[in-house]
Formats: sequence, structure tokens, C-alpha cells
Amino acid sequence: MKTGKKIILAVPHGFCAGVRRALETVERALELYGPPVYVRHEIVHNEYVVDSLRKRGVVFVESLTGLPKGARLIFSAHGVSPEVESVAQLGKYDVIDATCPLVKKIHLQAVSYYTRGYAVIIVGDKKHPEVIGTAGQIDDSCIVETIDDVGNLPEMKQKHIECLTQSTLSADDTREIVKAIKKRYRGKKVSVSNDICYATQNRQNAVKALAKKCDAVFILGSSSSSNANRLREVAEKTGAKAYLVSGLGGVSPKILNNLGRVIGISAGASTPEILISKFIAYLGRKGWDKVETMGAEEKKIVFKLPDRFA
Ligand code: SF4
Repeated sequence: MKTGKKIILAVPHGFCAGVRRALETVERALELYGPPVYVRHEIVHNEYVVDSLRKRGVVFVESLTGLPKGARLIFSAHGVSPEVESVAQLGKYDVIDATCPLVKKIHLQAVSYYTRGYAVIIVGDKKHPEVIGTAGQIDDSCIVETIDDVGNLPEMKQKHIECLTQSTLSADDTREIVKAIKKRYRGKKVSVSNDICYATQNRQNAVKALAKKCDAVFILGSSSSSNANRLREVAEKTGAKAYLVSGLGGVSPKILNNLGRVIGISAGASTPEILISKFIAYLGRKGWDKVETMGAEEKKIVFKLPDRFA
């Protein structure tokens, strides 16, 4: 029996080019060399993906201490600092770099501005590996997460200040933080490299439009995923009830019983399609048995694999 309840799935959602490249890199390494393959940090921030790879002999490590000499080591999509690269070199590990090329670009920008005498401010999450990797590219940088942090920034002797941004931030929040930085350093030349990547931006735009049409929006992704968290916030700010779910465990009866007729779904850039299908099937069993899509496919971008696999 049809219930009149429906799901609207945002397009685009899910995997981006950087995540696809990182996962393909691990697949190729497993295929070519066999386990164990070591990965520094979670290759992408998704528990399901990480657990599946772990079962196939991938070992995820935060520190390189204690890795066997010559270990095959992949750097995750989030990138690393030069300090980590040096430790890997000292350990004579066989390094395969799966850093997203768009993150690499931010690293290069940091070095370029810093060597030209700019003060560099990074807007992003201080504890996120991408931001740690970017900050580590230069001797001196400041990181701001919120507008409140801007008030605590030091005086700068440099005339020019360059703001770099983490790739997965909310475009709206970042705009406000940059405005506050410009106000704080009135009289200096403050410029901004908008490093929020195409995938983050496209998924946020799609969720904004989706949330306007839905009573509630579910974002599928892990709590450690920056872009999935931002998608949930974007949906909430647009006025819908918004939840971040893994896609595996369903949702509590308290939430389920208070959902409206139209439910929106999207997924972070590291969430595999299988979790979206499973969640749609789950909601189908609960009465949301019609599925529509909303939005337009993004241009397919493919990043070249690391040289040895290209
Ligand atoms: S979200 Fe953007 S920066 Fe991060 S891996 Fe994907 S494409 Fe690269």
C-alpha cells in the first residue's frame, strides 16, 4: 500500500574525486603487494570503509613509531606535514602518497605565500589532519576555527595577510570568519584563497536546495567526517530537522515517529553508495517508499593515481 511518504535524494552526494583516488590507491597497493599495507590515519573518514579495508589486511596507524623497516605506507587523502614525511623517509618506508591533489594545492599555497613574506592564517579545524598538515608546511601560521578565535589573533608585523581555508568548510561560515579577520586587520592587505573544494561546495548547494523541500534531512557519514558534519549544519540552518547517521543502524523510534512526509537524504564525500542504498531500503520498510532525486550531476572529475599506479 502506498503511503504518500517520499524520500528526495540530493544530487550530487557521496564520493568525490579525492576519495575515489585514495581508495583506488589502497586497492592497487593491496592487489600489487598484498597485505599488510599501512595507512597513516583513516584513508578517508568513514568507519564502514575503514573497517572493510582493515579486514583485508590494511593497518591504520596514527604514529609511524614501531612500523617495520621498509613498510609500505600510504598517506591518507587528508595529507601530512613535512615532519611526517621526514619520519617516513628516516624509516625507509615505501611511501605512496594518496593526499588529495586539492589538499596538496593548499600546501603549496601556504609555502608560496609564506616565502613571499605574507602572514598566513588558516581557517579550519585545529585538530583535523588536513589543517595540521597545512600548518606544518610553514614555520609560523595561525589557525582560527570560529569568529571568537579572531579576537585572539596576535598583532602581525607583515603588511600582507593571506587566509587559507580547509577544503571541507561551510562556505557561509567561512565568509563570516574572513569578514572578521579583515576587520581585525583593518589597514593591512588581507586576501583569501578560497580553498573549499568543488565537491564540498556542490554538496552543500544541493543540500541547501533539498532542505527547503523537506521536513527532515539525513546526512549519511561518520562523525569524524568534516564535510558530512558541515552538510548537516547547512541543512539545519536552512530550516529542516537534520541528522547525521552512519546509514547502518537505522534511527531511533523517537526520531522516526516525528518525521514528516518528505525526507531528504544526502551523503558526505567519503560515504560509499552502499550505505545510501541500505538507508533508503530501511526507510522504505518504514513507509517512505517513493524515491525522487533533486539536483544535477556534477562534472565527473578524475584525479591521476600516484605515479606507480597511473
Ligand atoms: S572533499 Fe575535496 S579536498 Fe577532500 S578529498 Fe574530496 S575533492 Fe579532495
